[in-house]
Amino acid sequence: MINYQGIIAKYRQHLPVTGKTPIITLNEGNTPLIPAPSLNKLSGMPGMEVFLKFEGANPTGSFKDRGMTLAISKAKEEGAKAVICASTGNTSASAAAYAARAGLKCFVILPKGAIALGKLAQAMLHGAKIIAVDGNFDQALDIVKEISEKYNVTLVNSINPYRIEGQKTGAFEIVDQLGGRCPDFHFIPVGNAGNITAYWKGYREYKRIGRISRLPRMLGWQAALSAPIVKGKPIKNPKTIATAIKIGNPASWQAAECARDESEGMIGLVTDRQILSAYRHLSQIEGVFCEPASAASVAGFIKLAAEGFFKRQPMFSSVTVCILTGHGLKDPDRAIQESSKFQTCQPKLESVLRLMGIQKKPAKRKQLA
Ligand SMILES: *Cc1c(COP(=O)(O)O)cnc(C)c1O
Repeated sequence: MINYQGIIAKYRQHLPVTGKTPIITLNEGNTPLIPAPSLNKLSGMPGMEVFLKFEGANPTGSFKDRGMTLAISKAKEEGAKAVICASTGNTSASAAAYAARAGLKCFVILPKGAIALGKLAQAMLHGAKIIAVDGNFDQALDIVKEISEKYNVTLVNSINPYRIEGQKTGAFEIVDQLGGRCPDFHFIPVGNAGNITAYWKGYREYKRIGRISRLPRMLGWQAALSAPIVKGKPIKNPKTIATAIKIGNPASWQAAECARDESEGMIGLVTDRQILSAYRHLSQIEGVFCEPASAASVAGFIKLAAEGFFKRQPMFSSVTVCILTGHGLKDPDRAIQESSKFQTCQPKLESVLRLMGIQKKPAKRKQLA
């Protein structure tokens, strides 16, 4: 028997499952909480400890798996034969994988031309029926909502309450990994706003049962030209290179505002330039490769640090967690665009040395005594 079997087995008593629920799992969750020393320093607060919750380490490469294991298990329990989702990419990759495992048909409605290559490749190989609409995510979501209301196909977007239930285990895991400590600040990208809603629910539930005695401040981040919650109105034509949060009318808008207000947090915006700068910082300084949307949480952290936010806090030490929602390999085109070009030469020692910038004769190897 293996000792880790996914979030349903681990957090069963907190989730709406019974002995009759078939558990469809890829052993998702249990993702690393990685210290980020370079961000401690940037905060300007001597006792700051920053951690990256690397959700890219989930089986399909994003946090969507936490919600999908439960949504697909419940769909299977309820006798569904097919599931459907609108997606900016990661929901479709996750739905397609779990549906394949459950023997369910999977329909995926995507905004044409706006899906990162890795995500599309996953949904395709897992055998989902993919339909690209010539519109944006919000329009795709409206269509799948209507289809799931009128036809016998289960919606697995985050308006499916089981998605939120599964995703709240991210909060449980963070507290457990911190040895029972609740973070002071929780940074998270916000797209359709299901994840910030789920984390807030998870933290509140852990507080209710006495696992933690206080709650974190929730700090959500939208891309500057896709920031409906910050602007207080839907955005007709959202734009950002962070395709996973390119959403103009979030389904969990109100719940996200509750998380923000009840936690005395904020939902702010970061520009694409700030997102990409955080994306490069994480990969080049911390060695962590996340997708651009994920870097929005760290971009928000860097922005607040630069504004002196942490220096103004009346505390000596604090713990910050930044959620890195998805893996960098999801969007290889962006990674290559953000990197310097590589060089080519003849397969000769001198040619390689020249490009390495080594001109001198080799130093004599030290003789072993
Ligand atoms: C889905 C997704 C988001 C946005 O999460 P919401 O729950 O829609 O707010 C952010 N980053 C990545 C990588 C995602 O896949």
